[in-house]
Amino acid sequence: MPNILLKHATIVTLNDEDAILTDADLAIADDRIVALGEIPADFAADEVLDLSGKIVTPGLYNAHTHAAMVFARGYAEDMSLDRWFNEGIWKLESALSRDMVRWGVRLAMVEMVRGGVIGFADHYFYMDEVAQAVVESGMRANLAWAVFGHEEGEVGITVPETVAFVMRWQGAADGRLRTMFGPHSPYLCSDEFLARTAAVAVREGIGIHIHAAETAGQVEASLAQYDMTPIELLHDRGLFETHTIVAHAIYSNPLDIRILANSNVNVAHCPSTHLRYAMGVTPVPEMLAAGVNVALGADGAGSSVALNLWREMRLAVVMQRQARRDPEALGGLTPLRMAARHGARALGFTESGALAPGYQADLIVIDATQTHYQPIHSVVASLVWNTEPADVQDVMVAGRWLMRDRKLLTLDEETIRVGFQQALAEMMAKPLGQFKTYEVGA
Ligand SMILES: [Zn+2]
Repeated sequence: MPNILLKHATIVTLNDEDAILTDADLAIADDRIVALGEIPADFAADEVLDLSGKIVTPGLYNAHTHAAMVFARGYAEDMSLDRWFNEGIWKLESALSRDMVRWGVRLAMVEMVRGGVIGFADHYFYMDEVAQAVVESGMRANLAWAVFGHEEGEVGITVPETVAFVMRWQGAADGRLRTMFGPHSPYLCSDEFLARTAAVAVREGIGIHIHAAETAGQVEASLAQYDMTPIELLHDRGLFETHTIVAHAIYSNPLDIRILANSNVNVAHCPSTHLRYAMGVTPVPEMLAAGVNVALGADGAGSSVALNLWREMRLAVVMQRQARRDPEALGGLTPLRMAARHGARALGFTESGALAPGYQADLIVIDATQTHYQPIHSVVASLVWNTEPADVQDVMVAGRWLMRDRKLLTLDEETIRVGFQQALAEMMAKPLGQFKTYEVGA
């Protein structure tokens, strides 16, 4: 790969000091950042970019999503979470096909890369299709095949099949691909299945990506059945003895937060879904203060409508400020750090999420020369409060451009849109059954 030199940029490093460099240079060799600020005199660049007026930041991570679910965008609106499951999504998913996942994930990737998202933690079905799409797109991903763990004839796979999937793709695509177990949740999976999954995960060194504590009703049901909150139950059954991503964790009490922090659990906070379905306010400031790695997820577009991490950042902030009447909550770079650095850590990409020598060259360039950015009194405020996906000009993963000047270089947008529409039409023409039922108190 060519040596690349970025010049005259404003660089938001998200390093340990949160340094922001102005009129700065950044040198890339192969897949890594070799220098920033002072560039060694002997660095020979094959490609030099003048980024005057542009802002360079680490690429963003979507830490909890069901990427292929873009097919359900706007399908089940204005309803409670249980109706959304029972009357909307779990009817539609009875007609889910491999083809729908193949094209759905590619459509989602176009949307994500265009918005500066370089990696995603996916939790869905037909995951070999998703893995193949990750290989082709140049993105990073951590993939979990969703399983429920009982009854025959369901969409989903067995524990041995999951292990095989995990082993097939772990570390593939030059390390851009990681894999995990994906038991759906403590409210859909049996207690025994969760414990068995945890035991195999710990034995084989495999991570776990799971939903939990989404509603007060789920906590009440868990207390009634196990005398433990969902977080306590997952901890007790051994799921936190490996690298774990817990999506949502909205209803986490102080003891739950201590468990999450002490067990190094990664929480994927999904503000759009939580707000749109009036699910509650996650104690994010308390989690961060306790040392929990809280990352941001866009969830599936069926509940969030968009895979837009800039929107998730802002909603995460305003949700806390309004709920607490505290205009200082989650200030400064906090939301960007959650979306980038915490996201990279949640997915297990330890050399990504910050711009520093030796780190992977995973970065995005934002065109802040546009009128709606003027004036820039604060780079941080402009970035967090003003940036839309369309402002992302370039996207690089491991030293390779996935987008340059808004042109996608690895994904063929036209072909993807045609394939997606075709798969969607076939899916919508099928008679719908009931894929699953949500029976926990809302
Ligand atoms: Zn989810």
